[in-house]
Amino acid sequence: MRGHEPRSSSSCAACKLLKRRCVPSCIFAPYFRSSDPKTFAKVHKVFGASNVSKLLVEIPEDQRQETVNSLAYEAEVRLKDPVYGCIGAIASLQRKMLELQHDLAIARSRLARATQVSVSDDPAASLAGVLDIVPGYSELMLLDGFTFDCSLYDLGQSPFV
Ligand code: ZN
Repeated sequence: MRGHEPRSSSSCAACKLLKRRCVPSCIFAPYFRSSDPKTFAKVHKVFGASNVSKLLVEIPEDQRQETVNSLAYEAEVRLKDPVYGCIGAIASLQRKMLELQHDLAIARSRLARATQVSVSDDPAASLAGVLDIVPGYSELMLLDGFTFDCSLYDLGQSPFV
């Protein structure tokens, strides 16, 4: 990567696409290098070069690269999903998060019930209750060739310990 390429020697990606002369003070040049013409093409198609220029001028120089990165990302997603753009990805992740929170609440509730059952007075009932409440627990025991004898455990002690 050539970080010290003199700007005057070649137009930046924006000026190349817009067919204009790239001046040393070009607002696009530090962020849209000629070696990557596709990024500016996408940003220009979605936002328009004039709007991007106005936006960059208003933003402090130390935040412009981040701005360009987010514009490039948004443009890319908007071109792939013209209806929802980034919101489509965000909504999908939010749906997934709600599903996982729901599953987590159910798992916590089952775990709480299993803990309550395991400290009841009847160890046999405790085991039956645990096997009933925690799905897959009895199958796991069978898979491991694990046998469970309630008499080995004191009353009130969790069979999981
Ligand atoms: Zn330029």
